[in-house]
Amino acid sequence: MQALKDTSEPFRRVSRREPCPICGKTDWCGINSRLAVCMRVESDYPVSNGGWLHKLAPGMVKEEVITPAETNPAAPIAIRDRVYRAFLNSLHLLPEHKKDLLRRGLSEEEIKRNGYKSVPAPTERWRLCKELKDRKYVLTGIPGFYLARGRYGGHYWSFKALPGYYIPVRDREGRIQALQIRLDKPDSYGKYRFFSTPNQTGGSSSGAPCHVARPEDPKDRRVWVTEGPLKADIASRYLGSVFIGVPGVSNWRPAVEAIQELGAREVVIAYDRDKNLKDAVRRAERELKANLRRKGIRVFIASWNQEKGIDDALVSGCEITVKEERGA
Ligand SMILES: [Zn+2]
Repeated sequence: MQALKDTSEPFRRVSRREPCPICGKTDWCGINSRLAVCMRVESDYPVSNGGWLHKLAPGMVKEEVITPAETNPAAPIAIRDRVYRAFLNSLHLLPEHKKDLLRRGLSEEEIKRNGYKSVPAPTERWRLCKELKDRKYVLTGIPGFYLARGRYGGHYWSFKALPGYYIPVRDREGRIQALQIRLDKPDSYGKYRFFSTPNQTGGSSSGAPCHVARPEDPKDRRVWVTEGPLKADIASRYLGSVFIGVPGVSNWRPAVEAIQELGAREVVIAYDRDKNLKDAVRRAERELKANLRRKGIRVFIASWNQEKGIDDALVSGCEITVKEERGA
């Protein structure tokens, strides 16, 4: 029996498209790519809630016909928001991830409110997707999810993510438009990764949207721009200001759009201090500045000593100086 148990893949009902490989009927029985629970043909392995377990050989399950849709367009933001909320609600935050967020300067309450959750183990994924499907959430067009191929045929919903924790990327109305993952083990691409499945069957691309962090009670009419959603969440909490986290310094265009939507007339740029060393960061800052000023928005540059990022600077109590940039 143990050998037949396979907890890593969900069962689906047989259908006219996928008849039971054991009895050949199109209803009542269940299959995944390796096993069948046939309700009509007995085996040595009865199942507690009815039917008998049969081990399948490769090729026994008739292939479900799925258009190999490369990349689906992403669903509208209102739908992504609903699915991501339900998804995050079904996840937990591991103690080590919570510790990391507390260490970075967030309170327990903010951690809960902002919705950070740990990426679940691979063996949990199909079940979480099945639960969402059972609750009538449609995963088509939700970046991060895709149709996984069963070992011996058929498809089931799952998702791709390296170990780490999810950071919700919100629009100006607080809707979750995408998820970013803070990786446990940064790789050559960096510490952060979007939850995205371009070029996967049933998957879609998250794009690289910017995050809008809004304090519960804003104390500043200026809008601040920094790099990354987590940094924006932390800095926003300490300053009581709206913070936009761009996904990368060179990717500032979505920030300009968000700034205009927010109706901000004054913007403070607070990129990492290593901008003084990195040409690319300096250039990106210059471009953003010029673009905003052309739109009649006043631009200020924030500076501080010691810490690299504005979040760490605020948490450790550094004084932040804000100076208007008039020159080109
Ligand atoms: Zn059957």
